[in-house]
Amino acid sequence: MASQYGGVIDELVSGEWVEPGTGKRYSIPPDDIVIARTLDGAESGLVTKQHGDKSLIVVSDPFTHEALGKRVYAALKNAGHNVSEFVWQTPKCSEEGVTQVQQGTKGADVMIAVGSGTINDSVKYASYLDGREYSVFATSPMNAFTTNTASVSFGGFKKSITCHGAKGIFFDLSVLAQCPKRLMSAAYADVICRTTAQVDWLMSNLLFQTPYAETPYTLLAYDEDLMVDNASAMLEGDIDALGMLTRISAIMGLGTSFTQTTHSGSMAEHMISHYIDMFSGENHPGTSHGEQVGVATVTMSKLQNMILRSDTPPVMSPTVISEPTLLKKYGAEMAATMTEQTGIKALDAAKADKLNQYFSDNWAEFRGRFDTIMLPFERLEKSMRAAGCQITHNDLGVDRNFYREAVCDARYIRDRFTMLDIAGDSGQLQAFADNGG
Ligand SMILES: [Zn+2]
Repeated sequence: MASQYGGVIDELVSGEWVEPGTGKRYSIPPDDIVIARTLDGAESGLVTKQHGDKSLIVVSDPFTHEALGKRVYAALKNAGHNVSEFVWQTPKCSEEGVTQVQQGTKGADVMIAVGSGTINDSVKYASYLDGREYSVFATSPMNAFTTNTASVSFGGFKKSITCHGAKGIFFDLSVLAQCPKRLMSAAYADVICRTTAQVDWLMSNLLFQTPYAETPYTLLAYDEDLMVDNASAMLEGDIDALGMLTRISAIMGLGTSFTQTTHSGSMAEHMISHYIDMFSGENHPGTSHGEQVGVATVTMSKLQNMILRSDTPPVMSPTVISEPTLLKKYGAEMAATMTEQTGIKALDAAKADKLNQYFSDNWAEFRGRFDTIMLPFERLEKSMRAAGCQITHNDLGVDRNFYREAVCDARYIRDRFTMLDIAGDSGQLQAFADNGG
């Protein structure tokens, strides 16, 4: 079934998309992705196409059951499928939660998830552990539906686990239009971070020849301008705008399947969000991944624009990793991880000299490479406000001092070289963070 809103996704599903420039043909792991104004009446056909006459269990929580789960179950039942239902009363994407899903769905060959983040990730991981297939009917727009990773917490710590992906991913926009606006805004934030992630990733490639791929960005570029200019429409329930956000979210999630890494959509803005999750402890504001990534995207865009729009290049010094400071702040185990991760990308004196020489010879050309890919800060912020996104640490409910620490120290948690490292090793990061990030 070709979807009304699939656009380039339909070409990817059928294996017909050819990358302009390289002429390379691409296909994607999910067998089917359908984005339609409504899927009412199409449920059985979509499921049969992926799973034949295997026995099914529809998994939802009380909210998503009301929103769509009961409709999907009834449609499958009426069409004669061997289908049962598991309405999960206490959904939690944790080790224990995943066990509950495994137990509650025993006996069925295939799991049909109906829901958003928690349901999708729990079913994804539970079905993976059991060696069962799964498909999903989404109740919000989000890029997690099209990834092969699940975010599961183990003893309170969230881990992103590579497992398997859904066979079929189905978006009924009339249902998505009813989801809390907060989820739409978070989805918007988690795709508009394309701008800061691409700047960081390309920069690392230009400076250190680390791997880089244009493909995910070529796919996102079909829609991004229109989405940025119409950011408020989805909140007003405009199905076309929501269809575009859903498509771009799905493509963002597929990024890993083209590059085999998450770099294309996850650089410093994600590191700041991870920092908040890892170190805010009891003071975690209860905000979602997308909301945190949104605020961090605003911060990173400001920093990237500040550095790359300057006529004079940053002057780099060797990276200082103060182990005693990290030890005091983060404890032995975490300090060791941070030292190791930072060590991989750290500048020694020779590397710093080389970078300074490169910048002084090529600054205009180097920063020119980002002209078309970096959204101007004002345009980004305006569109995020229109999309109802949270913009500042205050909006998130994160303490100013803690956010300052997050901006200064997020660079230590991963080996990815980002603008935080440029700012840090050129002595600009502290002042930037002191000014609110
Ligand atoms: Zn994300």
